[in-house]
Amino acid sequence: MILPIVAYGDPVLKKKAKPIDKDYPKLEELISNMWDTMYNAYGVGLAAPQVGVPIRLFVIDAAPFAEDDDLSASEKEYLKGFKKVFINAQIIEETGDEWAFSEGCLSIPDVREDIFRKPEVTIEYQDQNFETQKETFTGLAARVVQHEYDHTEGILFTEKISSLKKRLINGRLKKISSGKIKVDYKMRFPSVKKGR
Ligand SMILES: [Zn+2]
Repeated sequence: MILPIVAYGDPVLKKKAKPIDKDYPKLEELISNMWDTMYNAYGVGLAAPQVGVPIRLFVIDAAPFAEDDDLSASEKEYLKGFKKVFINAQIIEETGDEWAFSEGCLSIPDVREDIFRKPEVTIEYQDQNFETQKETFTGLAARVVQHEYDHTEGILFTEKISSLKKRLINGRLKKISSGKIKVDYKMRFPSVKKGR
């Protein structure tokens, strides 16, 4: 089932999300709905707060990045198979020299900004079977993990840009939070009064 994606400006996106355990109600259903919602919006990642649920859960399918012709064959192959559920993720460390990548976010339609992050991230998390995993990701895989992880910390990429750039996109952000935008997937806007 496709869920509405929460738009920029909703307080749920600013909250530090809570860890969950195996008994979290209807977790399988939520994860399945998150996949549907992400694919419907052509995203590569989606965090639970983006569907209004403030828990430490995100899903990633990096396959669309494998289309990038600047990548090596092995990188393409790796991204093609990168489909994972992350529960209760904690970043252990981030290493390397920061690099810029133009990021976007399903909660902030049509805004893209160069964001600097370290190229390598080691993360501990539980998979969908609640088995603990510790993995190191690099390049674009690391990038998506870092972006989605930030959502569970209540951080949006727009907080990582200069104040000048922030001023330049401020009008657009206001439009997004008031729902005065055209977007081709279902969204929930914080300052739109709900009719019944
Ligand atoms: Zn995002």
